Amino acid sequence: MLLTERTTSQDYIDLEQKYGANNYHPLDVVIHEASGCWVTDVDGKRYLDCLSAYSAVNQGHAHPKIRQAMIDQVERVTLTSRAFRNDQLGPFYETLSTLTGYPRILPMNTGAEAVETAIKLARKWGYKVKGVPDGQAEIIVCDGNFQGRTTTIISFSPEPQYRDGFGPFTPGFKLIPYGDADALEAAITPNTVAFMLEPIQGEGGVIIPPSGFLKRAAEICQRHRVLLVNDEIQTGLGRTGKLFTQDHEGVRADILILGKALSGGFYPVSAVLSSDEIMSVFKPGDHGSTFGGNPLGAAVARTALEVLVEERMIDNAAAMGEYFLEQLAEINSPLVKEVRGKGLLIGVELKPEAGGARRYCEALREGGVLCKETHVNIIRFAPPLVITRDEIDWALQRIRPVLRGGA
Ligand SMILES: *Cc1c(COP(=O)(O)O)cnc(C)c1O
Repeated sequence: MLLTERTTSQDYIDLEQKYGANNYHPLDVVIHEASGCWVTDVDGKRYLDCLSAYSAVNQGHAHPKIRQAMIDQVERVTLTSRAFRNDQLGPFYETLSTLTGYPRILPMNTGAEAVETAIKLARKWGYKVKGVPDGQAEIIVCDGNFQGRTTTIISFSPEPQYRDGFGPFTPGFKLIPYGDADALEAAITPNTVAFMLEPIQGEGGVIIPPSGFLKRAAEICQRHRVLLVNDEIQTGLGRTGKLFTQDHEGVRADILILGKALSGGFYPVSAVLSSDEIMSVFKPGDHGSTFGGNPLGAAVARTALEVLVEERMIDNAAAMGEYFLEQLAEINSPLVKEVRGKGLLIGVELKPEAGGARRYCEALREGGVLCKETHVNIIRFAPPLVITRDEIDWALQRIRPVLRGGA
């Protein structure tokens, strides 16, 4: 088949089915182009994106300023490796550090790599600074976590499917119930180096811990000399209406993990942020990445941070999130168990008798709203932070009948 013969969505779906590994179950929408909150499929149909690539396009699709920064950098130099320096990494560091107040940054590419980096950093700190006996470091993590797909990260996944067939696993992790500060304190031993969590569990189904939990966790960690490691790969960079979700409780994690929207969806850029004291345990040769800190990623990420601030996207997320959440809660369908969220990270949990969230996502796609089920019964709504009230109203007009009438 010649490329020009492929014109319909089904042609592209068939190709994916024929050649691809079968490790995803996507909705059958074949996206051809996108701008802001809107995507267009190969048949010319437009959809309002309420997933934002799992919060990687907080700044909206194809943001013109980020795109221009990418084009300009592509024309100069894209990859130097860290064997040499480049003129984009320093300015990226400066922008990220100034914005966040964290003095030290370690750039990587994907979120999972940044989580791995944070684990290595916390362990090394435990051995070199806290004095934990070699090989004994423990990290406390939470039930319901999703922090990536590498062999070490799935070693502490509570999701049987994420682990099935992939052992042996990395030891050194201890699970506690999410949101339970007493369980955290009880789980700490002299060998505990870190408590690592998502401040709201995104993939877990938009699970929000009890108010005050993060603050108490921070206080417990400090008292026991345990590092608080906060994975804000999905919840950070404005998603929940503040720069970071930890800001809602005035908490500052010892190690902060960022990814996804750090590049506005243009390029994989992640980072681990920390203090001078903690980051200084890494010496040349301890850790690295060929692409981490590359000039293209650095230029893109710096601009992605700039537009987030300049265009007041975080304030918009707070205001629009409040409106969207309130309107969704008012739908009052017998099929809906709970509507919850913070900023523009919203979960609609359906009752078991609704028959699973997937069919509702498919019905919404028919109507022009793209979202994706998480776990069996939860629909996540997480549109780009640039969404307007009119666009939310447009989405609500399509969401209401689907949630009310069934699918
Ligand atoms: C998406 C996600 C990750 C993994 O990021 P990848 O870029 O897919 O490796 C880790 N932690 C959280 C909280 C995430 O949402």
